[in-house]
Amino acid sequence: MRILILIAIGLLLYIIITTLLRKAKAEDEQARMEKMVRCEQCGLHISEHEAIQKNHHYFCSTQHLEAFNESK
Ligand SMILES: [Zn+2]
Repeated sequence: MRILILIAIGLLLYIIITTLLRKAKAEDEQARMEKMVRCEQCGLHISEHEAIQKNHHYFCSTQHLEAFNESK
């Protein structure tokens, strides 16, 4: 009878751990999606996946990327 209790506990732990891992992964992806970066040219905040990245700098548009490169 003790083995059944151990199996039940093991199964319960497995369910809890997989649920927590899935939740952590989903939150991580959400955080990455919503990460905000600042346009180097005008200071506008935009989400990272919408920004244009160049040499570790972020820009809201290609015009600002070009303007930033010209101002250097
Ligand atoms: Zn800009």
